[in-house]
Amino acid sequence: MTASDRTVTECAAAIAAGDVSSVAVTEAALARVAALDGKLNSHLHVDADGALATARQIDRDRAAGRALGPLAGVPISLKDNIAATGMPMTAGSRILQGYQPPFDATVTARLKAAGAVLLGKTNLDEFAMGSSSESSAFGPVRNPWDLGRVPGGSSGGSAAAVAAGLVPGALGTDTGGSIRQPAALCGIVGLKPGYGRVSRYGAVAYASSLDQIGPLTRTVRDAARLLQVIGGADPRDSTCSHAPMPDLEAALTGEVRGLRLGVPREYLQDAQGLDPAVRAAVQGAIQVLRELGAEIVEVSLPHTRLCIATYYLIATAEASANLARYDGVRFGHRAALRSGDGIDDLYASSRGEGFGAEVKRRILLGTFALSAGYHDAYYKKACQVRRLIHDELLAALRTCDALLGPTSPVPAWPIGGKSGNPLEMYLMDVFTLSANLAGLPGLAVPLPLHPSGLPIGLQLLGRPMDEATLLRIGDAYTRASGTDLLRPTLGDAP
Ligand code: GLN
Repeated sequence: MTASDRTVTECAAAIAAGDVSSVAVTEAALARVAALDGKLNSHLHVDADGALATARQIDRDRAAGRALGPLAGVPISLKDNIAATGMPMTAGSRILQGYQPPFDATVTARLKAAGAVLLGKTNLDEFAMGSSSESSAFGPVRNPWDLGRVPGGSSGGSAAAVAAGLVPGALGTDTGGSIRQPAALCGIVGLKPGYGRVSRYGAVAYASSLDQIGPLTRTVRDAARLLQVIGGADPRDSTCSHAPMPDLEAALTGEVRGLRLGVPREYLQDAQGLDPAVRAAVQGAIQVLRELGAEIVEVSLPHTRLCIATYYLIATAEASANLARYDGVRFGHRAALRSGDGIDDLYASSRGEGFGAEVKRRILLGTFALSAGYHDAYYKKACQVRRLIHDELLAALRTCDALLGPTSPVPAWPIGGKSGNPLEMYLMDVFTLSANLAGLPGLAVPLPLHPSGLPIGLQLLGRPMDEATLLRIGDAYTRASGTDLLRPTLGDAP
C-alpha cells in the first residue's frame, strides 16, 4: 500500500501499530505534493518543516509509549480561510496577501491536540464565494479526474488534494455547498455539519448565519473521525451548540433497516437542469438503499425553487457586513496614498485593488439588499422565505430520518465554462443551499462514475444536529456500492 492510498483512519491505525512512521507518511505526502501540485494548484502554502517537526514528535511519543490522539501522525490540510499560527492566511484574496494570523482557529487547535500533522493551506474561491475555485486570486484549482475541468468550489483545493491522495483528509467551509459540491465533483466524501456543531472561531466569516466548517475525506468513517475531533461546544463561539456529540464511529453499524428516507420530487423527477445520468445514478443509489432495508418514500419541497434567490440575498447581505473589516487599515493590502488623499480614498483604493470581481459584485448586491429603501423588499423578504424553506424541510424530516437527492446537478465542467456567467454558476448550488438556509447537516458521498468517467455525488440531508444518521446511511451505501474506492489515475506519482 502506498502512502497515498491510506485513508485517515487507516493511516492513524498504521502509525499507532508501528507499521509505518508519521515521518514516512508525511514525507510521502510532501513528495506527492511536489510531484502533482504544480498541475493541481490545490495548495497555497505547504509547511514542510512544521509538518515534519510534528511528525517526528508523534514518532517520539509513540516510541516512548505515550498516549496518541485519534489523528496522531496523520497529514491534514486546512482550507485557507481557517487560521493556523505560523502559516499565512489569504482566503484566496489579494487583500489578505501577507497576513499571518496570530492565533489558531478552534478547529486547528483541536486537530493539533488530536495529533494531526498540519501539512498546509488549500486554495479556494476568493472569500469562499464561488462554486468552481476559479475566483481565487492565486489561480484556479484543477480537477484530478480531468485537469481541464474545475474541481467545484469553494473548497476545491481541499477536495482536489484529497481526491489526488496528497493528503487523506482536509477541512473546508460550507456556506451554500462549498464542502459537499466539490466533494461530489472530485469523487470524495464531504460533510457539512449542522449549524452550530463546529466552532467558527478563527474562520474567515463569509455569511455568519450560514457558515460551517467540516471535513473532506475519502471515506465516511474518516469524516466521522474528523467531525468527532473538531466538533462540540466552544466558549469562543457563542453560536456553537452545547448539544452533546454522540460517538460518530459507533453509529457506523452498516445497518439502515428501519430508516425512512424521503426523496423530494423537486430534487429528482421534477428537478430542472438535472443531468439525466445523474438522475439515473441517484435512482440506482435509492435501489441500493432499498435492498439494504431502508424504506423509501416520496416527499415534496415546493419552496426549493426559491432557494437560490433567497440564499444569494442573505449570503451577499451578510458578506457586505462581514467584509467591511477589510479596509486597508486593519488587515492586509493597503493602497499607496497620493497627495491629497483622505481616509475614504484609502478605503476605496485598497478595496478596489484588493478584492476580485466576484467579491465586489457580492458586496454591491448585499449592500443594495440592505439599503434603507430596499431592505423590506429584498433582505426582509428573503428572511421570511428562509423561514418557509426551513419549516418545510423540518416538516419532511418529522416523517423521514433523512432526505436524499443529487449533490450537484451536473459533473465537473471545463475550466472557464461558466465563469463568464455568474447566474449560471449560482444555479449549480440548487440542491445544496437548503441545508445552510435551514441549518441542517448535509453529507455528500460518491455515486458510481458518470458515463463521461467523471465523479458525481449523492446528498443526504438530516435532522438538526443528526450527523450520526447521515454518516450511518452514507457509510452503508458507499461500502455496499464500492464508491468509497474510486480513485483518479494520475500517472506514476509517488
Ligand atoms: N457557491 C456558493 C456561493 O458562492 C456557496 C459557497 C460556499 O459554500 N462557501 O456563495
